[in-house]
Amino acid sequence: MKPLEEAYREVLSAINQTEVIELSVFDAGGLVLSAPVLAPHDVPPFTNSAMDGYAVRAVDIANAPVRLPILEDVAAGHVARGVLAPRAAIKIMTGAPLPEGADTVVRVEDTVGVADFVEILVPASYGSAVREAGGDISTGDLVFPEGERLTARHLAVLASLGVQPLVRRRPRVGIISTGDEVLPPDSSTLKSGQIRDTNRPILHGLLSELGVAVMDYGIVKDDAELLRSVIERAANENDAIFTSGGVSMGEYDLVKQVLTQLGGVDLWRVAIQPAKPFAFGLVQGVPLFGLPGNPVSVAVAFEQFARPALLHMMGTSTLFRPRVTGILSESVSTDPDKTVFLRAVAEWGAGGWTASLSGGQSSNVLTALARGNCFAVVERGRGDVPCGEVIELEMFTWPEGRTLEEAEAGTHV
Ligand code: AMP
Ligand code: MG
Repeated sequence: MKPLEEAYREVLSAINQTEVIELSVFDAGGLVLSAPVLAPHDVPPFTNSAMDGYAVRAVDIANAPVRLPILEDVAAGHVARGVLAPRAAIKIMTGAPLPEGADTVVRVEDTVGVADFVEILVPASYGSAVREAGGDISTGDLVFPEGERLTARHLAVLASLGVQPLVRRRPRVGIISTGDEVLPPDSSTLKSGQIRDTNRPILHGLLSELGVAVMDYGIVKDDAELLRSVIERAANENDAIFTSGGVSMGEYDLVKQVLTQLGGVDLWRVAIQPAKPFAFGLVQGVPLFGLPGNPVSVAVAFEQFARPALLHMMGTSTLFRPRVTGILSESVSTDPDKTVFLRAVAEWGAGGWTASLSGGQSSNVLTALARGNCFAVVERGRGDVPCGEVIELEMFTWPEGRTLEEAEAGTHV
């Protein structure tokens, strides 16, 4: 059996990155910068008001209350016509450029406007409510390094700079389920021996969350000719292919047979549980992940091999889900020859993280995967973990976890 850590590196070394393209900020979400972003100009680009109020000189209002004539109004998107003369004010809106001569903005709440005059009620310190040009970013600053994965928040910064990011193209990924017993998820009735396809839905969801484009090739019956032609077509049309099923020891494990015929793909026995049988290699130069059939194994193999591979293909070097350490709140007994991914619920409490199993641990028990929020990882060589011992928790993404009532009460656990 191949240790998991060896398998990681072997998979990643077979993956090529997609080409670099320039994209609009509306299309680049989830993709990875292929070059650092340097600021072409300051942000804010000009010194402006942080408040609706009056632009003044701080010295002129030091003895507030004072009464100053209003020279003009300046709204966001407009520029004052003149310079602010001493002992005068210019009415200003949030985001409007600070008029020349002004150094401070007094917020409207601290004033009373009377016709062409304003009564400044309280003094304001020099520079109050003023946002300096370059206060956030200066021209030439390194804004984000190469390899940064772009979230909505990053894209907003790039938009402020007018930068169209250079990123690696979004990978296209083909998914194929296999098996005579496997029916589409919307099948209303099942005959004895039949089950619904759970693997394309889980792969589709995980891939979409990752931000890759998914091509669905449906369910292929256990027919070697058919399977071969679908795999070849998928290899022509994608940057990676995922099959599920047909890679274990049974006679009908045709994926294994077909991949052997096609060449370039190896059958692996990785020292992990679940997901030990796994096929990986290149079909016409395109990486093929021959995932096991059992759905929990699909999820584990996806998280350990496919997700990191696709992130690497997109150009980032942070590839694995975040881990925390916690206390296991029950005893488990696992195979010491394997790295074991237990489906578990992690909870945060006064003593830190604790984890308990989220249900049955057979590789067909999907409910435990769905009800869990992490894998509790028992490293190879460890075997038994008594209740109360420390364990690594590999966290899934966190869904929303607070109701309106909790938000209103300010509760955050
Ligand atoms: P296999 O390796 O093809 O024998 O599959 C192993 C187990 O996973 C069998 O119980 C299959 O019925 C099941 N399985 C295979 N593909 C799927 C699928 N797409 N959805 C749900 N279960 C599957
Ligand atoms: Mg099968």
